[in-house]
Amino acid sequence: MADMTQIPESCDGCGLCCINNTDAKWIEVTAEDAKRIPSHFLQAGDIEPFAMQQVSNGRCVCLDNQNRCSIYPLRPTICRAVMPGDDVCVTSIKRIVAP
Ligand code: SF4
Ligand code: SF4
Repeated sequence: MADMTQIPESCDGCGLCCINNTDAKWIEVTAEDAKRIPSHFLQAGDIEPFAMQQVSNGRCVCLDNQNRCSIYPLRPTICRAVMPGDDVCVTSIKRIVAP
């Protein structure tokens, strides 16, 4: 992992935005997203029809042991919207590495 005390200008795939990046415990999945994501990752959602759980330690259920998304090519729309250096990225890094 790069020096995460500095906010990155490009994504190095640290995976920190996949760990409790909001107060929500779920990652919303649209109906369109759900067509490509393996069903065993999905549960019923509140805002969107489906959701994926952030498990007890805040990690997305799809995050592997190397902090990589195990379904990266299939990931939900909400995950695709995160950009290096944006609010989600910065908040995630500060919350976990450099508060
Ligand atoms: S967007 Fe930011 S927090 Fe997410 S993996 Fe990339 S560098 Fe890490
Ligand atoms: S689906 Fe993949 S990119 Fe989205 S939060 Fe989970 S591990 Fe991260």
